[in-house]
Amino acid sequence: MNLNFYMPTKVIMGEDCILKNAGLFTTLGKKAMLVTGANSAKVNGSQDDVIKALESVHIPYIIYDKVMSNPTVPCVYEGARVAKENEVDFIIAIGGGSPMDAGKAMALLACQDIKEEDIFLGKFSEQVLPMAFVPTTAGTGSEVTPYSILTNDKAQTKTSISTPKLFPTISFLDAKYMDSLSLTTTINTAIDALSHAVEGMISVRASVLSDALALESIRNIASCFEELQDGKISRESREKLLYGSMLAGVVISHTGTTAVHSMGYSLTYFKDIDHGRANGLLLGGFLEFVEKSKPELILSMLNAMNLNSVKEFSTLMDQLFGEKEEITVEEMENYTTISMKAKNIKNSSVEPDYQVVLDIYKKSFGK
Ligand code: NAP
Ligand code: ZN
Repeated sequence: MNLNFYMPTKVIMGEDCILKNAGLFTTLGKKAMLVTGANSAKVNGSQDDVIKALESVHIPYIIYDKVMSNPTVPCVYEGARVAKENEVDFIIAIGGGSPMDAGKAMALLACQDIKEEDIFLGKFSEQVLPMAFVPTTAGTGSEVTPYSILTNDKAQTKTSISTPKLFPTISFLDAKYMDSLSLTTTINTAIDALSHAVEGMISVRASVLSDALALESIRNIASCFEELQDGKISRESREKLLYGSMLAGVVISHTGTTAVHSMGYSLTYFKDIDHGRANGLLLGGFLEFVEKSKPELILSMLNAMNLNSVKEFSTLMDQLFGEKEEITVEEMENYTTISMKAKNIKNSSVEPDYQVVLDIYKKSFGK
């Protein structure tokens, strides 16, 4: 058996885990910059807990709260400038994937000068500020991945900065912050996590260990399907979704994502369709395609979800996501051309060609 597994992030999960482990912040540095979105961290209790913990160990901090969804390159350069000007020596990102991914790029840009044209090419040194992360959505798994995904206007898509140095140092997982999530964001983020676990199993880089974690992730997320459909999410399910999304993050740290993510980026870039929703709308079509070559693989995922067929899975996704966006065939052709250039499409163990990708878009949007 060959394995190559690296997961350097310390993960601490449980109610009030930030306050109970405040001392850990002293191991990261002497002055922190909190990186958040505009609102949610202020209202779900996560920012207050981080501030209380920092004050209890006498660590000063500043707040950068201007991260938008699908963060842009100018946003992370601005955040890094603020970090440098204020001489902070570690980053605490609080929020969904957007503040966490932005926080990673800021941690990198705050300690070295990287030209904009070099950032996606990986032309930088290994210097990066230590990072503590607090996910407040249960979806991206960014709290345990070495990826920072930014809007790349030059390529008209989203592109990942990827280096092991971007693994956060510590992640604090407390499901209570998710009580305030809307049902729509809960569903979108849960299906993003599911998509990570499923795509991880389809990746050319899947291993016995990543598959074991992926199946555990799928089981936990699928056990919440009924509550996602009913729209009433218990705290117990919130914990399962958070645990499942973290596991799926560990999976994609090793396997990367595949065709679904590369196809979904165009839907987000051009149509402003939320990241998780975009993946969820495409997933059934992709599974149907993979099933033709690897039926046992798809069966193992369906078993973990307690479902009998890909059709049943697609029907469930249709119920969760409701009415779909209008997309013309010309738009789909353009998205197909862009997706075919993404590196994660080649990461699929059953690699779709242009026509297959176009057909999945068409099937997903009823054309
Ligand atoms: P998000 O863009 O971080 O947040 C979506 C919305 O949810 C925002 O309006 C946010 O408000 C709100 N929100 C967050 N937590 C909340 C809470 N506890 N209660 C109420 N509202 C809350 O969404 P996301 O789906 O978590 O992240 C998507 C991003 O992650 C995309 O850019 C995607 O490409 C990336 N991603 C990264 C990885 C990775 O490995 N790095 C993997 C998958 C996806 P505020 O703006 O006010 O905070
Ligand atoms: Zn994703």
